[in-house]
Amino acid sequence: LSLIAKAFISKGEESIIPEITFGWYESVTLQMGGKIEWVPLKEHKMDLDEIKSRINQNTRVIWMCNPNNPIGTFINEATLKNFLKDVPKDVIVVLDEAYYEFADDLSYPDSIKLLEDYKNIIILRTFSKVYGLASLRLGYGIADSEFISYLYKVKEPINVNMVAQVAALASLDDQEIK
Ligand SMILES: *Cc1c(COP(=O)(O)O)cnc(C)c1O
Repeated sequence: LSLIAKAFISKGEESIIPEITFGWYESVTLQMGGKIEWVPLKEHKMDLDEIKSRINQNTRVIWMCNPNNPIGTFINEATLKNFLKDVPKDVIVVLDEAYYEFADDLSYPDSIKLLEDYKNIIILRTFSKVYGLASLRLGYGIADSEFISYLYKVKEPINVNMVAQVAALASLDDQEIK
């Protein structure tokens, strides 16, 4: 989340953030001197029409937590696709899927597949929830290689410590823990 803000948000540029959602999008935007467009939820879900209407020349990143922490609702694939086709290609849509492994509804988006058509999405997942490794800060992003190259420019040389790496490998070997 920090790398995305560092790479793509400069002073005065904007994030669109649903209200209510995970708190870090606000924090990483403000750290870069960015501004926030808050978009209230509608019937407990992210209001994609309203988000679309807030996009302007200064919009850099739309932060979407799907399923939404701490609400628990999610946006389905058809609705998400319909939204993505209207978002300008130079606006990044972050799909924070920290709870991806818990979303077993069939209509939940196959976001990796969506990358084929929508290069401006960055998918984020983490070992924190599904493997109970919160605080080790071990997550990963899936995105178009061009966007990844920008993230590497602002990444510290060692941003995942050895303890986290060892724990991650151990959890991958222990699928029963899920
Ligand atoms: C827990 C959580 C994170 C943080 O993931 P870490 O890998 O622990 O840094 C990010 N986004 C959401 C929505 C979360 O719930």
